[in-house]
Parts: sequence; structure tokens; C-alpha cells
Amino acid sequence: MSEQIVKIVIAGPRGKMGSEAVKMVTETEHFELVAVVDSKYNGQTLADVDGFGPLDVPIYENMDQCFTEQEPDVLVDLTNPKVGRKHMEIAFQHGVRPVVGTTGFTDSDIEELSNIAEEKQLGAIIAPNFAIGAILMMKFSQMAAKYLPDVEIIEHHHDQKLDAPSGTALKTAQLISEVRTKKEQGHPEEKEELEGARGSNFEGMHIHSIRLPGLVAHQEVIFGGVGQTLKIRHDSIHRSSFMPGIRLAVDTVMKLNVLVYGLENIIE
Ligand code: NAP
Repeated sequence: MSEQIVKIVIAGPRGKMGSEAVKMVTETEHFELVAVVDSKYNGQTLADVDGFGPLDVPIYENMDQCFTEQEPDVLVDLTNPKVGRKHMEIAFQHGVRPVVGTTGFTDSDIEELSNIAEEKQLGAIIAPNFAIGAILMMKFSQMAAKYLPDVEIIEHHHDQKLDAPSGTALKTAQLISEVRTKKEQGHPEEKEELEGARGSNFEGMHIHSIRLPGLVAHQEVIFGGVGQTLKIRHDSIHRSSFMPGIRLAVDTVMKLNVLVYGLENIIE
């Protein structure tokens, strides 16, 4: 039996992630890219925009109009947190399930959006990292922190990233804090000679954010114990690394009626 076609709208199609998502959706047999939402090129099609080839997919600036005319099943949002939150609210109003890779949502954003999803009985997925390897890195780090509670996180991203620390670093710290006894690391009298030298502090563990051109998304979690260290590292060397996770999220969100935060909650 053939799978049901999922009708998809992508917001942010010209972006580094969005353009990969356009490729993934158009190459997936049971997905149909019915439209895109962009801040430019209203009324044109992707075929009119450099880099997309002959894709006869309409471009809308107005998401309400897009959803009314195209009646999609799923919105894939890869924009920025301010816009992404507004897009999710519009999607819920139209009964469209959001799959959101946009990072930088606050805890209160997640709580408020979860309440709307529950009220509307609509599935939604927000994942700060769609790379399966990164999810494994977080899970292995949580496992290690039980035995090696002294840990620092170093995340490396391209220099156009707006939020710091990354959503993945924060999520890793949260997962670790669920299993480790809270402690302030380093010397009790430690003093920063230059502000920020020790990075940010999440319940006593430090997170360091590196931003450089040439990087994509990388994270190292370093544990220290008596006479030993352990490093767990993940590298996304190309944005295609996030696409299998987005594909899985689109299929999964069709079966959900709540908001799920984090890809780790939809994979075994
Ligand atoms: P990017 O290259 O800057 O792309 C963002 C795109 O969103 C741009 O094309 C931008 O268009 C567009 N945009 C802005 N406002 C819009 C609006 N109102 N309507 C429609 N489109 C709008 O950024 P990126 O690297 O692709 O990243 C996008 C998001 O994904 C970021 O939040 C990033 O942190 C996140 N991310 C997530 C993962 C994950 O696995 N979850 C992985 C990598 C990145 P203009 O340039 O014209 O404003």
C-alpha cells in the first residue's frame, strides 16, 4: 500500500537549512512541497529564484494566505526564533502541524506553544538539533555524567549563528543536570581576569561557544575524573546531516496531538 502524501510548506527556503529542506522534501516520494513562505519574491515561484532549478512551487510572504490557499498538513520552519514563534501560532490557527528546526526558543515560548498544541489537539515538533548523531552524543553524555559529574561543553558553530549558547549545548546541559548531583565546578576562589573567560554557567557546568567561518555545527563534551578524561564529540560537516531527522519528524508529527521538544523524544 502506498504511503499517504504529506503536503508541506517550508518557511525560510533561501536559507542554508531551508534550501537543503527544499531538496529533501522534493526528493521524498510521499512528500509534496505545496508552497514556501519567504520574506521576498511574493507571488513568484521557486523557479524564478536562483539555485532552485525548475521548481514550480509558489512563494508567499503572507503565511495566512498561504495556508488558506494551499491547505498543507505540515509547516517546516527554518527561519529565526522571533519569526518562527509567530509562524507556529499561525500554523496552529490553521490546523497545520509545525516541525521547527529554528533555534533560540525560550522555556516560556515552549510552554506557551505546548499549551496551544494541547488546546488544539495538534502535533508539533521543535528540535534544536535534527542530526541523529548529535542526539546520540547528548544521550551518551547523559550516561557518562552519572559517573563523571565534572563536565564542560564546547560548541562550535558558523559565525552567522544568532543565538549562544546553541540549543544543543543547552539541551545537553539539561539532560546532564537530570542525572548529576548539582555542583559548582572549578576552584571555589576562581576569578575571571577577563569577563567571560570561563564561558556561561549552567548549574555549575560551563558552556563555551565558538563562532568561526568555515564551521557548520560541532560539539565536544569533556568529562574529567581522577586521572582520566573522556571526550564525546559530534560534527555536522554538512547541513544534509539534519535532513533525515526532519523527514522523520514530518512523518511522526502527523501521528501526534501534543508538542514534542527534542528529536531524542521521537527516536528509540
Ligand atoms: P539562514 O541561512 O539565515 O536562513 C534563515 C532564512 O529565514 C533566511 O533565508 C531568511 O530570509 C528567512 N526568513 C527570515 N524571516 C522570514 C520570514 N518572516 N518569512 C520567511 N522567511 C524568513 O539560517 P540557517 O542557517 O538556515 O538556520 C535557520 C534556523 O535553523 C536558525 O534558527 C538556526 O539556528 C537553525 N538550525 C537548526 C538546526 C537543527 O538541526 N534544528 C541546524 C542548523 C540550524 P532573509 O535572509 O531574506 O531574511
